[in-house]
Amino acid sequence: MNPIDDTGTAAPNARAASELVFDGMGVSRGIAIGIIYRHDSETVTVREYKLPVSRIEAEKLRFAEAAERAARQVAQLQAKAEGLEGAAAEELGYLLDAYQQMLHGSRLIRGVHKRIEIDRINAEAAVQHEIDQIARGFEAMEDSYLSARVADIRDLGRRLIRNLTGAPYRPFQVLPKNAIILAEELTPADTALLDPRQVAGIATVLGGAESHTAIMARSLGLPAVLGVAGLMKGVRSGDVAIIDGRQGRVIINPSAELLEDYRKRRADFLRGRRALTRLKDLPAVTRDGGRILLQANVELPGEVESVLAAGAEGIGLLRSEFLYMNRDDIPSEEEQFVIIKELVCRMAGRPVTIRTLDVGGDKLARGLGIQTGPNPSLGLRAVRLCLARPELFEAQFSACLRASAFGPIKILIPMVATVEEMRAVHEVMDRVVQRLKRKGVPMSDPLPPLGVMIEVPGAALAADALAWHADFFAIGTNDLTQYTLAIDRADETVAHLYNPLHPAVLRLIQFSAEAALRARIPVCVCGEVAGDPRFTALLTGLGIRDLSMSATNIPVVKQRIRSMDLVAATRRARVIMDQSDSAKIAQLLDGFNESEG
Ligand code: PEP
Ligand code: MG
Repeated sequence: MNPIDDTGTAAPNARAASELVFDGMGVSRGIAIGIIYRHDSETVTVREYKLPVSRIEAEKLRFAEAAERAARQVAQLQAKAEGLEGAAAEELGYLLDAYQQMLHGSRLIRGVHKRIEIDRINAEAAVQHEIDQIARGFEAMEDSYLSARVADIRDLGRRLIRNLTGAPYRPFQVLPKNAIILAEELTPADTALLDPRQVAGIATVLGGAESHTAIMARSLGLPAVLGVAGLMKGVRSGDVAIIDGRQGRVIINPSAELLEDYRKRRADFLRGRRALTRLKDLPAVTRDGGRILLQANVELPGEVESVLAAGAEGIGLLRSEFLYMNRDDIPSEEEQFVIIKELVCRMAGRPVTIRTLDVGGDKLARGLGIQTGPNPSLGLRAVRLCLARPELFEAQFSACLRASAFGPIKILIPMVATVEEMRAVHEVMDRVVQRLKRKGVPMSDPLPPLGVMIEVPGAALAADALAWHADFFAIGTNDLTQYTLAIDRADETVAHLYNPLHPAVLRLIQFSAEAALRARIPVCVCGEVAGDPRFTALLTGLGIRDLSMSATNIPVVKQRIRSMDLVAATRRARVIMDQSDSAKIAQLLDGFNESEG
C-alpha cells in the first residue's frame, strides 16, 4: 500500500531507505506527510531530443531569436541600472555588459550553434551542455573572482532556456501531489509560486523564523521548518517525508510506526483547527467587554478567500510588493488598479490597507533591476526607493486612489524614518490626487487615510512628531525587532537572538502606541507577534486594539481574546514594562497566559 494514501499523493520511490531525522526551526505549525521534491535552484532540467537534419537550420534560428530576446531583456535591465547610483550600479553595469557580450558572437553562442549542428540536439539541451562546460572550466580556475562568475553564467543560461521554452520562471510546475519541498533556500518570490493545493509542507537549510518565506508559509497554512542544517545531503526526490512544524522536525523515510503516529497527530491538529472555525462569526471581545479588531495580512491576492473564511474584519496589511515578483517587468498602473479594485470589491465594505512597495532586504523584484547594495536591509529600499523612483510611487498611488472609489482603502508607507520622508510622500500623493481630479476620475471622499509603518527604531522614538504627518500607525514588529536588536530576521544562525520580548523592543512598541493614542490616531500591530496568542494579552495590555495577522492565525488569537480579561492584561503589561530582563518578561507573560487558561 502507498504509505501515504490517506493524503492522496503520488507513489513514493519504491526502494526503501533508512529513516533520517533533522531538527530545525518550526516556523509554521501543522504536520505534513508527503513526497519529497528537491528544489535545486541552480539546476534547470531540460528535455533533450534528437533533431532531423531538416530541422537544424530552424533550430538555430529559434536559438538566435531566444538570444536576441535575452539581449533585449538585458538592455532593459541596463537602462534601469543607469538610473541607479553608487558602487552597486557600477557592479551591476559590468555584469550586464558581460551578459551582452556573452549574447553576441561569444564562445557560448558559437558553442550552442555547433552542438545543434553537429550533435543534432535541441537548443535547450545545447544551451544546458554548453553552459555546464563553460561553468566547469571557470570552476577549475584557481581564481576566486572567475569562479564566482559561474553563478552569472548559469543565470544567463537559465534566461536563455526560459526564452526558448517560452515559459516564465515557474519552478514548481511539475510537483507530485502533496509535495514536500526541500531546498537550500526558498526566496519569498519562490514561496509566492507555491500552490497550497499541491504542496503539503516545506523545509529549508537557510532562513529565519521572521523571514518573508516563513511569513508566507504561515499565510498559506503550510507546515514549515527552516534552518535545518545538512538537510539536502543524501535526500532524494520521491522519498516520503514528514514535516512537523510545531516541533521543528523533518523526518525522511519514516518507519511504518512513526508514520502511523504522525498520521494520528495530523488528524488531531486538523480537528483542532476545524473546531476553531466555529468562532468565525463571534466577535473578538474579552471577558470584560474589550473589543479588539482582528484583520488579516495578505501577501497574494489569491488569499482573499481564506481571509473571508477566517472572519477577518478587514485587510490590515496588503504587502503589495508581491505584485512585482516573479516577472521581468513592472506591473502597470492599470494592472495594479484592476487587482486592488477586485480585492476591495471582494472585501465588501471592509477596509483594505495597502502598503506601498516595500522591496529590499530579502524581498527583491527582478523587474525593478535594483541591486542589493553592501547591506540590503539598510539600503535603498521601501519608501526610500519609491521616493527615488517617483514614477513607481505615483503609479501605486494612482492605482490605490482610483480603487478607493469602490470601497474603503487606507494607504500605508513602509520603512519611514523621518518626518521629511512623510512630507515628500504627502507631496507625491497630492500631485497624484490633483492629476486624477483634473481628469475627473472618481475617488473616495474623504480621500484614503495615509499611515506610517513604525518599524525603524528612530521612527518609534520620533513617533510623536510622525503622528502629525500620519492618519494612522501600523507597528511592524518584525523589522522593529530586527533593527532594534541588530538581528537579521532571515538569518537562521542568529535566530535564537531574535526576541520581540526584549525590553527595548517592548518600550518602542509602548512609546509608539502611546504617541498614537495621544495624537488620537488609530494604531495597529501588523508584525508576526500580532498573530501569536502568546503576545495577545501583552499587546492589548499596552493599549493596542487593532491586530493584523496571517488569516490562519485569526481563530487562535480570537480564542485567546475571548478567554482573557483586558483589565488584568493591562495590569500585567504594567508589571512587565517595569522589567529589564527578557527572561523575566517571558516568565511573567507565560505565567499570565497560563493562569488565564
Ligand atoms: C514588519 O516589519 O513587522 C512588517 C509587518 O512588515 P514586513 O514583515 O513585510 O517587513
Ligand atoms: Mg517590515
